[in-house]
Amino acid sequence: MIDAWSVNKTLDWTTNYFKDHGIEWPHLEAEILLAHSLNVKRIQLYVQHEKVLSSAELARFRGYIERRVKHEPIAYITGCQPFMGLDFIVTRDTLIPRPETEKLVELAIDIINSRSSVVSRNLPAGRQESLVDLGTGSGAIAVSLAKYLPQVKIIGIDISSAALEVAKQNAVKHNVVDRCRFIRGNMFEPLQDIGRVDLIISNPPYIPTKVISTLTPDVKDFEPISALDGGEDGLDYIRKLIDGAPNCLKPKGLIILEFGDGQAEKVRSYTKDKFGDTKIIRDPFDKERIFLGQNKSF
Ligand code: GLN
Repeated sequence: MIDAWSVNKTLDWTTNYFKDHGIEWPHLEAEILLAHSLNVKRIQLYVQHEKVLSSAELARFRGYIERRVKHEPIAYITGCQPFMGLDFIVTRDTLIPRPETEKLVELAIDIINSRSSVVSRNLPAGRQESLVDLGTGSGAIAVSLAKYLPQVKIIGIDISSAALEVAKQNAVKHNVVDRCRFIRGNMFEPLQDIGRVDLIISNPPYIPTKVISTLTPDVKDFEPISALDGGEDGLDYIRKLIDGAPNCLKPKGLIILEFGDGQAEKVRSYTKDKFGDTKIIRDPFDKERIFLGQNKSF
């Protein structure tokens, strides 16, 4: 069959097609989408490089590559995104979790683990630390924390019920549903009935409104704007989080916030004198990215 589309030939053709369309990682993305079309792991493409695609597989793949050249993010096409070594379900109702956000989760894990082991904390036997993820989206932060910290319970809050559905699916998928609760609500509002917590973590929307139109089409045309737009200077939600946190945190409770490029100075000055202790931490790309604040001890 002269025109048979083998795995190899399909990958070569698609890599060139993606290159012509300015796709960032042409070969890698071709592989991911082909593996997804064939319902196999990427490594299988090497094992089966001469396998000829059936017309159904080819049609499915064609659909995916057409979506990708229109700049739909690969995570929305495959419906999943790796984060913290776990696979998360994502839809267009949820932001796609970013690698820099893993740093927030790692920081929270380290702090909780070291706090739990400090005898002076004197947690009564069996008391689980309570964590809150504000604007949980796909639940990537909340579910990873529950997964890696078996001693905590976590509440994920979001205004979007569609996003919360995805977060719940992720909690089920990763077997942490017994320690995760997802509540629809506006920022701190649901905490009024819950009381003070040990840690608040959030990756809020923080892109300045006028910057949104300059973002890559993959982001601005596909991801939920409500998860990106942080108002005029990008800091609307960050200021609300900083103002609200002291009343929602236990004494010495912690807040961990992600913020955007170039916002560190404003975050520093806005948080001054509001917490017992504060720190700004860099992400793996060496950008100041995370605010860590410890509540006063009262
Ligand atoms: N880090 C995301 C981006 O640059 C923005 C996420 C957010 O606003 N929290 O696209």
